[in-house]
Parts: sequence; C-alpha cells; structure tokens
Amino acid sequence: MSTTGQIIRCKAAVAWEAGKPLVMEEVEVAPPQKHEVRIKILFTSLCHTDVYFWEAKGQTPLFPRIFGHEAGGIVESVGEGVTDLQPGDHVLPIFTGECGDCRHCHSEESNMCDLLRINTERGGMIHDGESRFSINGKPVHHFLGTSTFSEYTVVHSGQVAKINPEAPLDKVCIVSCGLSTGMGATLNVAKPKKGQSVAVFGLGAVGLAAAEGARMAGAGRIIGVDLNPKRFEEAKKFGVTEFVNPREHDKPVQQVIAEMTDGGVDRSVECTGSVQAMIQAFECVHDGWGVAVLVGVPSKDDAFKTHPMNLLNERTLKGTFFGNYKPKTDIPGVVEKYMNKELELEKFITHTVPFSEINKAFDYMLKGESIRCIITMGA
Ligand code: NAD
Ligand code: ZN
Repeated sequence: MSTTGQIIRCKAAVAWEAGKPLVMEEVEVAPPQKHEVRIKILFTSLCHTDVYFWEAKGQTPLFPRIFGHEAGGIVESVGEGVTDLQPGDHVLPIFTGECGDCRHCHSEESNMCDLLRINTERGGMIHDGESRFSINGKPVHHFLGTSTFSEYTVVHSGQVAKINPEAPLDKVCIVSCGLSTGMGATLNVAKPKKGQSVAVFGLGAVGLAAAEGARMAGAGRIIGVDLNPKRFEEAKKFGVTEFVNPREHDKPVQQVIAEMTDGGVDRSVECTGSVQAMIQAFECVHDGWGVAVLVGVPSKDDAFKTHPMNLLNERTLKGTFFGNYKPKTDIPGVVEKYMNKELELEKFITHTVPFSEINKAFDYMLKGESIRCIITMGA
C-alpha cells in the first residue's frame, strides 16, 4: 500500500483531560515497529472501561490519551517480524494479548499472557515504550495498547485477532470486548450446570452477554440485578427470567436473592464495576457449591470486604479478564458462532453515531440509555 512505512495523518478523538469531552484532532500515526501492525479502524464501540479511565477512576491519570478498545478494522501495514497478519486482513484489536510463548499462553487455564496481559497504566508501545501517536510532534498516550478512537492505530500483533473477512465489522466489533467478556465469564469461568440458577449483576452489554452465556449453558433461572429499571425490559430478550432492583428492597440484595432461591444462587457473575455489587454477588451464592465471578473493573482505592466464614462455607470467588478467552486462539471462533447464527449480536446494539459525534456515545452510556453504541469511523 502507498502508505506503508509512512506517517499517516488522520482523525482521532483525543481525551485531553479527565471527564472532558473528547476533541476531534488531526494526529500523526507512525508506521508499525517490530511485532506491530497498523490498522484502519472501521467501527468502534464504547465500553464502560473506556469511561472509567476517561473519568480517571481506575488509575493514575494519563492524558492526553486516545481511548477505545472495542473495534473492528483492516490491517494497513505490518512491522518487522509479523508473520501471521498481512495488509487487508480483517481484524479485531483486543485489550489483552497472547504472545503464544509464555507459561500462561501454554496453559489451558489462563489468558493472562506475561507479555501482553491488560495493562491500564502503559501509555506507549511495549517495543520501545514510545507512543505511535503525535500531534504536531508531541506524543499522545495509547490506551490498553488498542486506542481505537482513531481512524488508524498501531497495535502489538499479539493483540490482534484475525477473523473471517465475511463477518460484518459493524456487528462483530463488540466481540472484541463486551460480548466475549460477559459470555466467557459465564461459559468459561462460572460454568453453570444445566438447570442451575445464575444471578447477573449489571445488565449492560457485558452483563447481558453473561446472561446469554447462562442461557447457552442451559441455566434454569437467570436473575438480573440492576439499579436502572430501564434495563429490565431489554434484558428479557437475553433470557433473563427474573429481576431484582436493590433500590426496591429494604433488605440487602444478598438476602433477597437467598430468599428467592432457597439459600442462594448456584452461580453469579458481577458486571457492574461497583465494589458493593461485587460483595453482594459473592455473598448471594449458595454455600457448599456456589461460584461467584467478578468481571467489573473496580475504582483504584476499592477494597473487597467479606467475612472469611463466607469462604469457609465452601463458596468460591473468582475473577476474569476477557472471559478467560485467549484472544488470538479463541476469538475467531466466537465470530464464527455469529456467522453460524448461534449468537445474536444485533440485540446488543442500541445506538449508532458517526465518529464526529463520539461524545454522544459517552452521554448514552452515562445516562444508562445504551447497551452498545457503534461509532462509525470516516463518518
Ligand atoms: P454498562 O455501564 O453498560 O453496564 C453496567 C450496568 O451495571 C448498568 O446497567 C448499571 O446500571 C449497573 N450497575 C451499576 N452499579 C450497580 C450496582 N451497584 N448494582 C447493580 N447494578 C449496577 O457497562 P459495561 O460496558 O456492560 O461494563 C460492565 C463492567 O464490566 C464495567 O465495570 C467494565 O469496566 C467491566 N469490563 C470488564 C472487563 C473484563 O475483562 N474484566 C471487560 C469489559 C468490561
Ligand atoms: Zn471493554
């Protein structure tokens, strides 16, 4: 391609300050270096993790920064040493990677790659610590190694899943984070048995994908817990059979759920990011066999507090990033599930905005109006 090896100038939505609207800027995107690929992003969507870090709740603030990690695009060029990807490949960038060589990548149980696991503090590329983005020569930080709120981005090749080129990128972009995270949290980590009860805390895209996973696993009852009553109608499409709004009860929600289920649910999956909900999700599982899985990203100073007896009573507490999926190995298969109509993605997509109106996607999420809002690049 004519742009190979050259700096590309394109539009990016830059966060200059915590909590302030993103500003559309012309940025320079350097060519990919060793083990990196440059991707033309076609569609991206907003996940709550972007919002937390934009609000600077999750970390040491790092600005200016280009957020975005749920996206689909096409490889424009590849750097030295990249053998498994080439220009023209349809890809999903993923916020956590797979080097293929470390103990985690060799383990069947883990997706916590030593080299490329999620790192929210890093603002540059692993290869040299530098940013590939700049504005008038001044660097702009990366986010999660993906920074998809830019028409072009540079990503480590270990964080890029090559998918079926027939898959519509405006739909499968949500597989790159929210859908896989929620579905995998249930199917790969909570692992409910047929007929068991599952509580899902937080009915955003991640929680609804967790509910979808529960339905696929044949769960008998799926109890949705959310503070936003608007979510309940929507959640019926995802197989959620009962609803609990903690605000409508004077007792702790753990107790409400225990009373509904003769002592507690068999499995729970927390998809809120609220530490109170994390504790509730753990304390509402049945003693003896209950398993709770934490998915929400907590705020920086949060601490999880529960009485140790809750664990001695044979409850299990787990957590997961990206639903335990290995991004390069497993994600092409999740996309195939959509292509084979085993998975419906359309119902997660409630809004679409052109890139120039990306701030609207933040408003929809903050007001609890959207499940996923797709942002169309080049529009
Ligand atoms: P979202 O904002 O669309 O949905 C969150 C839902 O939780 C909302 O409906 C909200 O009303 C509800 N909620 C908030 N506090 C609650 C509480 N105390 N009790 C019950 N419900 C509550 O967000 P999302 O994009 O679906 O993401 C959900 C969470 O998952 C976020 O914390 C996000 O950062 C995290 N996440 C984690 C991973 C991972 O790999 N572990 C990946 C993606 C997202
Ligand atoms: Zn995400």
